[in-house]
Parts: sequence; structure tokens; C-alpha cells
Amino acid sequence: MGGVFGVVSKKDCVQEVFYGTDYHSHLGTRRGGLSFHNDEGFTRSIHNIENDYFRSKFEPDLKKLHGSKGIGVISDTDSQPLIIASHLGTFAIVTVGRINNIDALRERALKKKLHFAENSGTGASPTEMVAMLICEENSFEKGIEKALEWIEGSCSLLLLTEKGLFAARDRLGRTPLVIGKGEDAYAVTSETCAFPNLGFEVDHFLGPGEITFLDAEGWEQLRAAGDRMQICTFLWVYYGYPASDYEGINVESVRNRCGAALARQDDVSIDFVGGIPDSGIGHALGYTNQRKIPYLRPFVKYTPTWPRSFMPQFQQQRNLVAKMKLIPVKALIEGKRLLFCEDSIVRGTQLQDNVQNLYDCGALEVHMRVACPTLIHPCEFINFSTSRSTLDLAGRKAIKEVEGEEDRNLNLYAQAGSEQNLAMVDRIRLRLRLTSLKYQRLEDLVDAVGLPKEKLCTHCWDGSSYS
Ligand code: SF4
Repeated sequence: MGGVFGVVSKKDCVQEVFYGTDYHSHLGTRRGGLSFHNDEGFTRSIHNIENDYFRSKFEPDLKKLHGSKGIGVISDTDSQPLIIASHLGTFAIVTVGRINNIDALRERALKKKLHFAENSGTGASPTEMVAMLICEENSFEKGIEKALEWIEGSCSLLLLTEKGLFAARDRLGRTPLVIGKGEDAYAVTSETCAFPNLGFEVDHFLGPGEITFLDAEGWEQLRAAGDRMQICTFLWVYYGYPASDYEGINVESVRNRCGAALARQDDVSIDFVGGIPDSGIGHALGYTNQRKIPYLRPFVKYTPTWPRSFMPQFQQQRNLVAKMKLIPVKALIEGKRLLFCEDSIVRGTQLQDNVQNLYDCGALEVHMRVACPTLIHPCEFINFSTSRSTLDLAGRKAIKEVEGEEDRNLNLYAQAGSEQNLAMVDRIRLRLRLTSLKYQRLEDLVDAVGLPKEKLCTHCWDGSSYS
């Protein structure tokens, strides 16, 4: 997915932008980038972060960077920031999202005799495409407005000029952007967990399609938020950071409420509850507190070296990481009936190994409770994860097994408790060798988040589509 961070300050802000961007490392795996504006103009630094941490890659660059305005990005797509010289003035730009109509926009640009500097061979760079749309208008404000309107999919962006920082959230607010206020500085972030340790406090949650301009003295709204919102519900379930808030709603609190909702639907006899680190833990704590059953850690993560499981780009490497980073604690597992909470089941391959590990350590029963409904539709809006193609989803594989062919009766499978839904869940249970498996009901997930359903994107689960 990716994340962005920017600061405008009365003093040098390289440290703030560096650490603020680093706090988005859980959102992307491919590229990191920083850009600053100072008296000599714009500087930038970009690194591949597929094999090493953002911090390790950028630390050597810090002594060369300076400026009182800066932006940073963790990107799962193109190399960013781009620095563009245009009739509007020179600017640096970073984006997050997914442009579904990029080929049509590219063709349109080429017909107008425009050209692209950044072309990887797989097509135009999404960030350059956004910059090109912006530069077709007579002001940054109008250009950003046009880009947000023309892009199908989603695009949130930060655009740095010599005067300050434009921040714009995607048209339907699928990805968040939040303004923070610090001492003599303002910041914008995708993840609010970047604020507390850098001395910022949340000042304003941008609404869908809202455009703002920030300088060191304050910020102003250039375009009001739209009425329609489709923020990604999966932010709270899985890939958002526990200390972050979106729309004023904290991630860890939602995970606790998800676990509690699962517990209210459950009366299975077990000895203890565990969570698959990291994101399953918040859900498991909610479950265990609701049912007053002990919480233990039958798996511990080898934190000195292993980051999150979807860091590597290739599945084989991901499987290896998933296996090596979790160490089972046999003393807790042997002879016990365990229940695990998980944020979601995507393919289920890693989970299959985890469950086998538990039986190898002598578990008597392994029950699984999943914090969201069965994933049956891949994400079409935010570049969530390259590994989530339709046929890879455990839910879709199970449907194919039940139906004998693909893509039938998906709505019936999405309905919790329907005959089709129960058959699909049982196929997944059998494949994972679980004693029992239950998924969250969509209405309980929506309640746990606390926003009206029509403001949430729930496409992963029910295929609803709002563009
Ligand atoms: S489809 Fe799923 S991952 Fe994509 S924006 Fe919607 S809820 Fe989020």
C-alpha cells in the first residue's frame, strides 16, 4: 500500500521526516524516499528497501540532507519522490494508492504529445502520471483537484513547493491522511503512530478528497471534504499500526472489540487463547478479556531480526520468513486445547504450517477465530498486496472445491451462516487441519470499527463497490 510523511518547520526537519517516514515501514516493501527543500533548492534520496530496513539505508544520507520542509514515502510501487520542474514552479511529490486507469491516462497524455521521463518498461510511473495531471492546470490547487477527480482507484499525495506543503486525500478517502501540530512545525502523515515520539499532536483528520496547504505557521483548507467516504476497513483489521488512529478511531481498540465480538459468539471449551504475532494479538486480547480465559504466548516472534510476514516480494521467501520468525513454546502447547485469533486468512499457507507446528508440539485441539469475514474478493482500490490474486484466496479456493467451478454464488458465500458460507468455511478448516474455525460476521466487524457501513470499504468480503 505505502505511506507518506511530511513536515514544514521553522527549523531543520530532516530528523523528523526521517523518523516519521520510518514509522511507515510496515506499509511497504519496495522503495523508500526523502526529499527536502532548502536555500539551494530541492534534494532527494531514494533507496530500494527490499533487502534492508529503511533506517539502515537512509542513515548514511542524513548528513547530506538539510531543509526546513520535507516529505518522505514508503512505496510499494514506483521510486519516489519525484522532483518536477513545471510552469507552476519546481515541486517534489509523493503518492500512495492505485491508479486503475493509468493506461488510458497514459494514452491520452501521449496523444497530447506529452512524454514520460520515468518509464520502467511496465508502463508509466503512477507518481509521474499524477504530476502530469497536476501540471495541466494553472495552479497546484486546481491541478490536484483534477488529479483526484480523474484517477480511478485511489491516490493520496503530498506535494512540496518552496512555499510549503500541499496534502490531498484520495477522492473516497480509502487511505488516511492526518495533520499534526508540533512546536514551530506542522506535519502530515498516513499513520498517526508517527506523531507522539516526534512531538506532534493530531490537529485534523483530512476527509475524502480534501485538499490542504501547510506552512510552518499553520494550515488552510483549499477544498472541503466530500460527503462520500469508503475508507479501507482492512486498515483496522490488519495492516494499520496498533498505535494509529483513522477517523479518530484507534486501531488496537478496534482489534480488541473485534476479539470481544468473536468471543460473544463462542462457547468452545479451551485451555487458553493465543494470538499469531503481531496483528492477531490485539484481537486475541479482546477475545480473552471478554471470555475471561487465560491468554498465553504459544508462539513467540524472534523480534531481533524478523519484520512482518509480507515483507519479501516473493512467496517462497515469505514462507521461509513466516516459518523462521515464529518459535513454538512446547512447554505451553503440549496436551492443551488452544484457540488462536488471527486478523485474516489470505492464502492460509503460513497458517497451515503454524497449525502443524502446534500438533507437532503435542497440541490436543487447535481452534481458530478470525477477526474479519472470509476474504473472497481481491482489493481493487489501494494496491494492498501483490500476493492477493483472486485464485490464491483461501475462500475462493474453497468455493471452487464446493462448486466445482469458479465465480458462482459469491453473494451467498459472503452471507454468514448460509449453507454455502458454512460449506466454504468447513473446506478451509479441513485444509488447515483446525479443530474448529469461525469467522467474524461483517456486521460485527462494522460495529467494532464504529463507522456507518456506507462509509467503509468492505469490498474484500462482500464485493460491494463504490467508485
Ligand atoms: S478492497 Fe479490502 S483492502 Fe481494498 S480498500 Fe477495500 S477493504 Fe481495503
